Amino acid sequence: MADPSTVLTGPKLAAREAPPCRGLVRVATLAQLVERDRDHDCSGFGAHHVCVKVDAVAALPTRFGDFQIVAFWNNRDGKEHIALAHGDVMGAEDVPTRLHSECLTGDALGSLRCDCRDQLETALTRLAAMERGLLLYLRQEGRGIGLINKVRAYALQERGMDTVDANRALGFRDDERDYAVAAHMLASLNVGSIRLMTNNPDKIRQLERHGVRVNGRLPHVMPANEHNRRYLRTKATRSGHLIDPGQGEEKP
Ligand SMILES: [Zn+2]
Ligand SMILES: [Zn+2]
Repeated sequence: MADPSTVLTGPKLAAREAPPCRGLVRVATLAQLVERDRDHDCSGFGAHHVCVKVDAVAALPTRFGDFQIVAFWNNRDGKEHIALAHGDVMGAEDVPTRLHSECLTGDALGSLRCDCRDQLETALTRLAAMERGLLLYLRQEGRGIGLINKVRAYALQERGMDTVDANRALGFRDDERDYAVAAHMLASLNVGSIRLMTNNPDKIRQLERHGVRVNGRLPHVMPANEHNRRYLRTKATRSGHLIDPGQGEEKP
């Protein structure tokens, strides 16, 4: 194991990140991030100045493969974001990375209204099969509008609205997610650059705006089912996702 004092390359990171996280020196292991971050408090990422720090790290064997779970504290909303790291991601370049936004109904309850659980399970399976990979599990339920509002939006969709119009009828934008926290998590983990597993070009743009180096995109398209076909089509035609809008359509 490398002596942590010999792998301090903070200035290189600081030059790219500019103001917020100048103090994020490199350490040798994920577990050492807890001590490094004990007093971390920076001016924060993004419009809301979100700052996170690594609070706890443990092994997490899963049905998809072996990961380390990294729990982050954050100063904004008290939400407990986590990262699942497979292999050695610290200091690495082109790390295959998936940003997954929490979806209780899909991830835990198996809802077929969306493709979140399929996306999560497929991502973890793919990442675990690679030399290294990273999944950030972001607690922004319902594209950032929260669980109750997501259920309200479902009720509106039952009356004929699509997911974009339903969110707008409730006073939200199509997508309220904010990737500043993800950018800070990547900086905290000393990830040099990523290849993002996504169909959503806006995610890449947002991360780059926050100083993340995105060196490529890994497509992550799930097959449609009869319940989420309209949702997926709306993602493609109204939210700019790079999936085939006719995906899963009945063949004539
Ligand atoms: Zn910070
Ligand atoms: Zn979902």
